Amino acid sequence: MYDILIIGCGVSGASCAYMLSRYDLKIAVVDKSNDVANGTTKANSAIIHAGYDPAPETQMARLNVRGTELAKEIAENLDVPCINCGSLVLAFDEADLEHVRKLYERGCANGVPGLKILNAEELHEMEPEISAEAVGALHAPSSCIINPWEYCLAMAETAVVNGAELFLNREVTGIDYRDGRFVVETTDGTFEAKHVISATGVYSDKVRSLVETPTYKIVPTRGQYFLLDKDEGKRVSHTVFQCPNEKGKGVLVSPTVDGNLIVGPDANVGECEDTSTDKAGLDAIRAAARKSVPDINFRMNIKNFAGVRANSDHDDFVIERSGTFPGFIDIACVKSPGLTAAPAIAEQVVGMLAEDGLELKEKEQFINSRKRPRIEKSDAEMRKKLIEENPLYGRIICRCENVTEGEIVAALHAPIPPTTINGVKRRVGSGMGRCQGGFCTPKIHEIISRELGIDMLDICLEEPGSEILKYRSKNNKEG
Ligand SMILES: Cc1cc2nc3c(=O)[nH]c(=O)nc-3n(C[C@H](O)[C@H](O)[C@H](O)COP(=O)(O)OP(=O)(O)OC[C@H]3O[C@@H](n4cnc5c(N)ncnc54)[C@H](O)[C@@H]3O)c2cc1C
Repeated sequence: MYDILIIGCGVSGASCAYMLSRYDLKIAVVDKSNDVANGTTKANSAIIHAGYDPAPETQMARLNVRGTELAKEIAENLDVPCINCGSLVLAFDEADLEHVRKLYERGCANGVPGLKILNAEELHEMEPEISAEAVGALHAPSSCIINPWEYCLAMAETAVVNGAELFLNREVTGIDYRDGRFVVETTDGTFEAKHVISATGVYSDKVRSLVETPTYKIVPTRGQYFLLDKDEGKRVSHTVFQCPNEKGKGVLVSPTVDGNLIVGPDANVGECEDTSTDKAGLDAIRAAARKSVPDINFRMNIKNFAGVRANSDHDDFVIERSGTFPGFIDIACVKSPGLTAAPAIAEQVVGMLAEDGLELKEKEQFINSRKRPRIEKSDAEMRKKLIEENPLYGRIICRCENVTEGEIVAALHAPIPPTTINGVKRRVGSGMGRCQGGFCTPKIHEIISRELGIDMLDICLEEPGSEILKYRSKNNKEG
């Protein structure tokens, strides 16, 4: 029997697993997907928000600001790309300036460090490509950009290295409480645990319904993006927002940790699984972004994508015990800034478990570090050392992003190995560049098959059903 069963391995579940894995506990994490970070954590703006948006004295405000502190610490310890670039909220007229002043006051009340209202001259000196129409901005120096899936993966991997057990491809279909323990049915086996944490994103109401009627309603809200080539990545050095509106934080323009430019999102109420993009929405995003940074060259777009927010009928995150089975903790309605707040949410959950009588005895040896080799980011000396130790680090597989076979093989033998083309992509960055995997995918396909002993016909791009090869042409009886 497990002490804790965590359902969902997005950033919320992975943060809980990471925080709990420092204690002497038997932990299981189950996810319905074939990889970690495959829900909302996979597709978002990737901003560690400073914390001036949430209303003061809400748990969202508290957890946002604490989450920002923790994210920097965790990224440093676990070798996650995270850049403290700061953010700006632009004002284009007096009404916007009034809003910026409100955000400043809110941020101060929330304890956001270093906030400053800039005048037009200060703003344009800081960001020369910002529209001349902008008359001022709020500057938040604590905001960061991060690699969201690596952030989640790094926490999940560290939990696994410290003894947590991860079970992928298991959808939770039933939760019962018998003889003082939870009995959790999945599509592949039954788990027993003393405590259950649900961190199931847009599906949290569905999972909560397995226990009792949810206290909230999830409103899945799709947001779509442009991801532009690295040639556009230096248009701005900060994450640039406009004043938020009733639909959210509005369209941002931001560098990414890989040096690209990200532009988006919008907000469309829809379905949990609908990550489509549409021309009308993208046209509107393009126009809105040009209001902030007029010269963005959208011809350098290399990818459009969308993510789905777990918006809800609550203004705040819901982090609560079940009324029926108190050992069940629900982490729900984790919309933005959920990526930022996740480790702080996990801290709060650890506190709730302690209140519930869970004994938290620190492990004598908690491993709180992780290193992954990156040829592109290494200096000449380190590259030489890596290649001498393993010649595969001298063999480039993805030419756009300079990813080597050594990095791919290392990812395939890491504590949570990917089994799909996109799983490798998220870990090492192959296929993220200009050709979007046009050249390297066949080679990566072969390497996955060789290293993991999976038949090439069974290797998927992403979810089951997305197999890339249909049959062996030489054996194809249909011709
Ligand atoms: C467009 C957009 C922009 C955003 N921008 C930002 C931002 O810049 N900064 C920020 O801080 N936040 C941002 N967010 C919010 C942030 O991405 C989310 O709050 C966060 O990723 C939620 O993580 P999660 O782990 O709660 O959910 P998810 O990542 O969705 O994880 C839930 C997991 O549960 C699993 N699951 C579901 N049901 C079951 C089941 N029955 N059995 C087993 N497993 C199950 C899923 O497979 C999934 O892996 C944004 C969100 C969107 C959509």
